[in-house]
Amino acid sequence: MEFALDHKPSHSTVIGMLWKSRSKSAKKKCLHGMPRTSIDCYSQVSVSAQKGLGFDFLNRSLSLRCINPTKLGKRKSVHLLGLKKLQLVLDLDHTLLHSIQCSRLTASDRCLKNLAVRECDPKCGDLFIDVKGEWITKLRPFVRSFLKEASALFEMTVFTRAQKPYAERMVKLLDPDGCYFKSRVMVREDCIGEGYKYKSLTKVPGMESNILILDDKENVWANHSRNLIQMEPYHYFACGSLKYNMLNASMDAPALANPIKMDESEDDGPLAMTLALLREIHSRYFDSDPRVGGMDVRTLLREL
Ligand SMILES: [Mg+2]
Repeated sequence: MEFALDHKPSHSTVIGMLWKSRSKSAKKKCLHGMPRTSIDCYSQVSVSAQKGLGFDFLNRSLSLRCINPTKLGKRKSVHLLGLKKLQLVLDLDHTLLHSIQCSRLTASDRCLKNLAVRECDPKCGDLFIDVKGEWITKLRPFVRSFLKEASALFEMTVFTRAQKPYAERMVKLLDPDGCYFKSRVMVREDCIGEGYKYKSLTKVPGMESNILILDDKENVWANHSRNLIQMEPYHYFACGSLKYNMLNASMDAPALANPIKMDESEDDGPLAMTLALLREIHSRYFDSDPRVGGMDVRTLLREL
């Protein structure tokens, strides 16, 4: 590109011309492959909807369409194997915690609101109430130890069908310092099918042979049931558990000042047992053939 000396364009004009020229050529064929809401982030060219790999957890509506998701997944798995890690996808509700609206608490549970800690102080205790006093949450016994120990063996991702604001609040309770999940939180909009009915590993970068799932619901993982370790659902509050309501119907009136709540064991409850299983799978994976494609967690899970 040449400019006459008596009409030297300003720096910004040059950039503008270069940008225009590049955009012109980009319009012919856009290969950048980073569209956001149908506009390529780099060339600003309008692109058609693509079935790329969604990166909504980085930036809503961002996807990579030119990078092959399979290649990206393999690269990610190779990187993690170098760290001696597999991947673990975790559901929230009834898997890691139980959360309900305070208005649904039974008479016998209502006093729990007074024992709960405000969510803005997530490192204190395991029973929390939100700032408006509308939701109460109980973390599953052993969950903090579980996350700490599992994080040494797995890269962990949260995958919930709940809305993003709720998911972010719950993740903050589980991971106050943001060291376990970072931005790896998949929410309702990341689910697939009518009514966001299903969760899918296609949204989680990594090879499916290296990913395990913990969820209390099998039907939401229709295409990935072989990766699933189905959890016994966690119900702490009486509401939401028919079985518990029936067993404790006699306690509902009058309200008790300090109900003795039944809860799972820290030492040999479902999360402690699941951690032992995860350790075994991790150990067998790396003892046998720790290459991508060399071993499959789905096979190991079936054998145990
Ligand atoms: Mg669940």
